[in-house]
Amino acid sequence: MSEHSKEFETLDPQDWEQSKALMHKMVDDAFNYVQNVRDRKIWQEMPKDVLNTFKTSLPQQPSNAGDVYKELHDNVLPYPMGNIHPRFWAWYMGSGTISGVMGDFWASILNPNLGGGNHAGHKVEEQVINWIKEIIEFPKSASGLLVSGGSMANYTALAVARNVKAGYDIRAEGLKENNLVFYGSTEIHSCNTKAVELLGLGTKGLRKIEINEDYTINIEALKTQIKEDKANGLQPICIIGTSGTVNTGAVDDLNAIADICEQENLWFHVDGAIGAIAMLSNTIKPQLKGIERADSVALDLHKWLHMPFEAGCVVIKDNAGHKNTFSLIPEYLEKNTRGLAAGENWFSEYGLQLSRRFRALKVWMSLKEHGSERFGRMITRNVDQAHYLGQLIAQNNLLELIAPIGMDIVCFRYNPGGLNLEDLNALNKEIKLQIEERSIALPGYTTLNGVYCIRVAISSHRVTYADFDEFVNSVLRIGKTLI
Ligand SMILES: *Cc1c(COP(=O)(O)O)cnc(C)c1O
Repeated sequence: MSEHSKEFETLDPQDWEQSKALMHKMVDDAFNYVQNVRDRKIWQEMPKDVLNTFKTSLPQQPSNAGDVYKELHDNVLPYPMGNIHPRFWAWYMGSGTISGVMGDFWASILNPNLGGGNHAGHKVEEQVINWIKEIIEFPKSASGLLVSGGSMANYTALAVARNVKAGYDIRAEGLKENNLVFYGSTEIHSCNTKAVELLGLGTKGLRKIEINEDYTINIEALKTQIKEDKANGLQPICIIGTSGTVNTGAVDDLNAIADICEQENLWFHVDGAIGAIAMLSNTIKPQLKGIERADSVALDLHKWLHMPFEAGCVVIKDNAGHKNTFSLIPEYLEKNTRGLAAGENWFSEYGLQLSRRFRALKVWMSLKEHGSERFGRMITRNVDQAHYLGQLIAQNNLLELIAPIGMDIVCFRYNPGGLNLEDLNALNKEIKLQIEERSIALPGYTTLNGVYCIRVAISSHRVTYADFDEFVNSVLRIGKTLI
């Protein structure tokens, strides 16, 4: 086949006009899908015949793009996770934005590799990171990186903390003695444990300190543990404060942790996957006092900033320490002073990934379109809604709040009285499942001190106050029929 022949094969559309028409149809369908999200089931089980379609073997021959879309339409679109629905309150996820979708679309069309290079994508990511620094009141000189999410953001920061604080060239020598210790509360997110394990310190390398009644780290216990560890020849290197724990939304006393870190010469890291971005909210910002004193902060932009997955960010004050942890430049990546390979700070020198998606674009477009203040108002409204739900619970003697409301997370249970713990747990588990299976809402759950609770994490820019009225009525109705 010659390249001049009509049949010269590429992966581009064979018929551009037909392909464009199909894409236009997809855009129309997608807008309807988002606009009418409230009217569809939040979640539903996939029937067997649909499940079977995912078991067919590798398609070896081409098919019509329209037919492929039909399969997506029939077998994927009706069975979503549910998190773009206003009544999805499970785990902790954002609900997406249309500008984010447009950004992802163009990121795929442009398809640059954000590992490095002298092109506009690099400038967009730099600017987004600078905006994040502004939000958390970090200096301009800090370094940063967009990553897949909170897990990678925490991992990246903790790797830098280890290398900077070890006191020797751990990169060249590896661990000399396994005596380095990180600290966090018992409510710390599991990804930090994974990170410390992967950093070679073992699970024991992360000390989990007891919590107060409000689920924040107990500062006195933390101090005592550090003292004891030092006396036993261990080397404390870093305290991880959490701003917005995943169970209850608790915010550790960041200033108190910053004080200890200053006194003890420790790295201060904040896992702000949920809450750091709440610096945009006037009501939450005062609770986050001290975040600006951290050495590093991990944020998730696909949670309370509603970016389409995946988008996380890590920001680190010690720019050189950050670069020294990850920079490694083989010959074929050597930089130039001119042309495409120009530029000082390539993102691949600040993290594990070499090839990187243009994930900054959706953030850049969304922040420009909506402005940071609107995002702040969305966060504040979720917090107000959490307290509204808290009031509905407090006003009804069949309902019981199990933990203080942290940020936008409400943990409660149905308790008609006269039941033991085991029966109450089973009852609430059943209520939660029925709410989910009847597609009324998708609340989460957790267990606090042995008490099973229905956990409502409110991070939707689409949810209304009336949704919570209806939810509480459903809990009461289902609870009543069960007992
Ligand atoms: C969600 C979360 C993480 C993990 O973030 P991913 O984006 O899921 O990788 C880490 N820490 C906290 C506090 C979280 O809520």
